[in-house]
Amino acid sequence: MKCTNCHKKLENEAVWCTRCGMPVDRSRQVMIGGVRISFPVWVVLITLFCAFMILWLPRTIH
Ligand SMILES: [Zn+2]
Repeated sequence: MKCTNCHKKLENEAVWCTRCGMPVDRSRQVMIGGVRISFPVWVVLITLFCAFMILWLPRTIH
């Protein structure tokens, strides 16, 4: 496991980097507006957005 910020080698149990203090990205979580959104939630949101656009776009073109 490596730090995503400074690429220092870290222990697998490390919660944050011992060199720069960067939290270790363990579960592919993204910070947006202080709210943590996990990767599966992103997949669902993107899928719903695509489905909405597929259903909605043809009606606006014609
Ligand atoms: Zn680091």
